[in-house]
Amino acid sequence: MSLHPGVFVNRTLNMKRINYIGLDMDHTLIRYKTSNFEKLAHNVMLKKLVEQQGYPESVLKLKFDYSRAIRGLVIDKNKGNVIKLSRHAAIRASYHGLNRIDYKKQKTLYKSTYIDLGDSNYDPVDTSFSISFATLFAQLVDLKDHSENHTLPDYATMATDLAVVLDQAHRDGSIKDVIRNNIEDYIIKDQEIVDGLERFKKHDKKVFIATNSDYAYTKLLLDYAITPLLKEHDHWSDVFEFTITLAQKPKFFTDNTPFLKVNPDDGSMTNVTGKVEKGGIYQGGCANRLTSDLNLDADEILYIGDHIYGDILRLKKDCAWRTALVVEELREEVDQFQKAQTTTEKINHLMAEKVPIERKLDDLISDQIENDHQNHKDKIKKLTEDIQEIDKSLSPLIKEHDQFFNPYWGEVFRAGIEESYFAYQVERFACIYMASLGDLFKQNPRTYFRSHRKSMAHEV
Ligand SMILES: [Mg+2]
Repeated sequence: MSLHPGVFVNRTLNMKRINYIGLDMDHTLIRYKTSNFEKLAHNVMLKKLVEQQGYPESVLKLKFDYSRAIRGLVIDKNKGNVIKLSRHAAIRASYHGLNRIDYKKQKTLYKSTYIDLGDSNYDPVDTSFSISFATLFAQLVDLKDHSENHTLPDYATMATDLAVVLDQAHRDGSIKDVIRNNIEDYIIKDQEIVDGLERFKKHDKKVFIATNSDYAYTKLLLDYAITPLLKEHDHWSDVFEFTITLAQKPKFFTDNTPFLKVNPDDGSMTNVTGKVEKGGIYQGGCANRLTSDLNLDADEILYIGDHIYGDILRLKKDCAWRTALVVEELREEVDQFQKAQTTTEKINHLMAEKVPIERKLDDLISDQIENDHQNHKDKIKKLTEDIQEIDKSLSPLIKEHDQFFNPYWGEVFRAGIEESYFAYQVERFACIYMASLGDLFKQNPRTYFRSHRKSMAHEV
């Protein structure tokens, strides 16, 4: 049993040493009804493709399917494929549009099993709408392959067009306006998170927000999901040390952008001449300036976000703040992992039977080769049949195992026997990770999170 249920530790983190906790807003402090949210992005992108990029109206018929993609996939723009990678960037599953590419075909398509992620043809889907983005790309590829009229552009252009309309949707407010008008359809009110904010504050943990959202949208969500749930404070601004909007992460962690002060009454802005102050609402800024204004060591600050590239990866590379990642898929993955346990045990049991037979078979064949005789012919035949029998029982079990997870892609954190590329990034860049901020807030604010000693191949 884990010492800290719900919080998983990659690197030792002593919460007593943490004085400031920075929070990303969207999907970290504020939880979304993700399936609704991704569906909205899918709809908005489709409309913009038709209205602004001249796509045929037939694309509007594409229905959003939440299970079509998971986080951490990579798009092969030229070939129109979506790929799942292992921790070593080896291809472990691939689809052309909506159709699974079998292993043989995959081998002819990709000379090497390994993908060079530095190649600009490969697009890791780590936008804030990775599910809808990957799904829509796959659907458009499928539509292009199967439609009579050939008005859709080539695969790579479609990927670029999608990125353009998604970026526009963020900027012109077409997604945010829908949320503003139907907020209860998209935003979760989470008492556990709000209670945790007040509890951590009692321990003198100074909590601040650093979000890429603008002030108006930040205010909308905090007014809706934080203020009404507070028990010991009147307003969200009493809980947060300061609030940084339009932070432009990941640039926030690398560049030296100056802070602007936002007037909460009318949203107007002024230059900041002095230091960042308690209670202030800001726009822009950077981590360096914040650390020095507060007179802190970088490792006294813990930053918590949900976006592996924007919140965590660049931060870890360029700035010494400690990191925590919220991976909302984790809750289901852990639940399903437990439900799949019986199947996993059956698989392990059969593998334990298979391995010694394989070894015996190898020894007999070697003996025949080396001593140039045919004495083991019957035994070899029998052992080969035994292995085939075991494989016959194994294959439905492996399918059964995968059905506990995403029907197209399996587990988010695993690619077969190895970790997925996504899992590798989580492990490498996040000091701790959890399904929800509430999982961290349930822990004692003085917790010493210790990582397990990890075994290397030669140590087990
Ligand atoms: Mg976020």
